[in-house]
Amino acid sequence: CGIIGFTGNLQAPGILVDGLQQLEYRGYDSAGIAVNNGSETKIVKTTGKVATLREKVEATADLAGTCGIGHTRWATHGGVTEVNAHPHVSGNVTLIHNGIIENYKELAASLKTKGFTAISETDTEVAAMLIDSLYDGDPFAALKEADQMLEGAYGFCVMFKDHPGEIYCMRNASPLVASHTEDGSFIASDMVALLKYTKDYFVVPEEHIVVMKADSITLYTMDGGVEEPKMLHVDWDT
Ligand code: GLU
Repeated sequence: CGIIGFTGNLQAPGILVDGLQQLEYRGYDSAGIAVNNGSETKIVKTTGKVATLREKVEATADLAGTCGIGHTRWATHGGVTEVNAHPHVSGNVTLIHNGIIENYKELAASLKTKGFTAISETDTEVAAMLIDSLYDGDPFAALKEADQMLEGAYGFCVMFKDHPGEIYCMRNASPLVASHTEDGSFIASDMVALLKYTKDYFVVPEEHIVVMKADSITLYTMDGGVEEPKMLHVDWDT
């Protein structure tokens, strides 16, 4: 339901939880974040409120890092449980997802023959497994291939274990907006989550991939060409 992502030179946990709080008005049943500190990714998630997530985040020792993703879930596939909350992990891939993967059952069946077994009941975990199964060190190639196999609506933010400090995003139907500031690169499902940091942003076009790094944000077409984002400006005050 709600997506926030950050990589830069500020601590990510507070930015992610604050961003999720801004997205609360859309409704949700669970929330979670994943934070990478350069060598390791830690996940904190919970059913219920962002306030509960905040308490859990504050009680988690050594949860530090300048790169991370956060999600508020509105369950469509699988009950409201902590296991079903995002982020989901498969091997190299840590992922959050807005939307619905229509063909997740077929994909899950064929992934099972390759040794991928889900621990949650979500369509989202199948997307994480699919991208992981297609990944051979090139995040862009894996996402592009996954895009051809996935049916449904999606906004994804993905972190790959061996690409610390980077977030890869892709959308089809589900909204994503992004921005780069001197603090780093931001992405969200709704601009309200970013207003504290910037009023300049771009809407991620459908069927594009955004690569976020601390010092840059780059928009790619699916064939790998770099595209200049169309910048927009928010006039209203918060
Ligand atoms: N379909 C996914 C799930 O049920 C994502 C729902 C959402 O957009 O929050 O976990």
